[in-house]
Formats: sequence, C-alpha cells, structure tokens
Amino acid sequence: MSDSHAYSSQFLGWLQDYIGKLPSASMAEIVGQAGGPDRVWVVAVDIIKGFCVEGPLASERVGAIAEPAAALIQRAWDAGVRRIMMPRDAHDPESVEFGAWPPHCVAGTEESELVDELTELPMAEHFQVLDKNSLSAIQDTDLSRIIQNDGLPEAVICIGDCTDLCLYNLALGFRLISNARNEPLRVVVPADCVETYHMDVGTAEELGALPHDGDLLHDLFLYHMALNGCQVVSEVTT
Ligand SMILES: [Zn+2]
Repeated sequence: MSDSHAYSSQFLGWLQDYIGKLPSASMAEIVGQAGGPDRVWVVAVDIIKGFCVEGPLASERVGAIAEPAAALIQRAWDAGVRRIMMPRDAHDPESVEFGAWPPHCVAGTEESELVDELTELPMAEHFQVLDKNSLSAIQDTDLSRIIQNDGLPEAVICIGDCTDLCLYNLALGFRLISNARNEPLRVVVPADCVETYHMDVGTAEELGALPHDGDLLHDLFLYHMALNGCQVVSEVTT
C-alpha cells in the first residue's frame, strides 16, 4: 500500500471510540421538540425476511435489529406517532438491480414480507407498507409521492438495513430533500436499530463477490450520516 493510500489508524481508532460513545435520544423529547406526534414520522426500511431471515442476502446480524426495531416502533406508537412507514424491496423479477446483486425480495414472495417481529405488533395493520425497486426508498416511489403531497415532517426517525445501502440512502435522502428545499428536518438514526451484513475476504474470493466488512462499513456510514447533519444516536428511549 502506498503512503498516499494508507488508511489512518488514528481515524479508525477515533471512529470506534465515537461510535462507542454515541449519546441516546428520547422519544418524548423528539415528539416534544417537533411540536407533537403528528409531526414525527418513523420510517423502517427493509426490515423484511429477505434481509433478516432467508434468501441470498439474508444475514443474522441484520436480523438482530428486528427486536429493537419493534420496541422502538412500540415506543413511538405509545408517544402518539401514527405515521409509521415501511418501504421494502418488492422487486420486479427482471430488476436492473439484479445486475449488481443476486435476485432477492421479488414482489409477492416470502422474502419481500415484513419480519414477524413487526407483523406481530398490535398496531401492525396501521403500518404503511411501501414498495420499492431500488436501494432508494425516496426515488420514484410511493414514499417520494407522499413527501411531494404532504411535505416533510419536523422529525423523521430512520431505522432498518443496510446501514451503508438502503438505510443510508433513506436518511441522506431525507437530509438532502430538506437541504434542497431549505426546510429544516431533524433526521434521527438510532444505531441499535440499524445494521449491515458481513462478508469476509476469503468467502468473497471463493464466491467471486466483493467482500464487505460489516463492522467497518456500519461505523463508517453512521459517521457519514452524522457528518451530513443526521442525528446519529445509540438508541431512542421512551
Ligand atoms: Zn433490492
């Protein structure tokens, strides 16, 4: 590795420390500061079986966010939040995206369904499940049309997977719409309800795929969301 491309061990040490010391936020404070629960949205992206339970892109570490995500949604509901939206992959069988990723989460299949932890919540029938066909939940989707019609809320809590893929595009997408419109929006990302997958270099070489360091990319993209003005917290308590 040439000097010009040497990774900074000082930065990586700082990053680990930064992620380990993230402060928490509270639902009551978020709702209070927003001016009421009707001004807060929760958007849970891709907490579906194809990433959490079964299929070529499912990962145990991603599946582990299902429980804390369900608990956060319950806390939001208890605080009066009713806009709970769930963009999820519901792919066309001939999706262009399958040029980069193995076919996954095709519309109408089990992989495309919300995980049991979410569907078993008492208010599950009130969720707005919104289909998407790309890594972006807010580009040419029903969610983009909702934002177009209803405008932005005061605060949005973004949870789901993967940290560096759909979740990142979701949180940054909200941030960039807010910036472009010059309308303030608090984008909260609780790290305990966000995760990405891991594929080590050896496995990737065997499969002819690109490796993916789950811990590093999770931390780096949380940092990158914070860098861009998202409020990255350890968790959202009551
Ligand atoms: Zn996809």
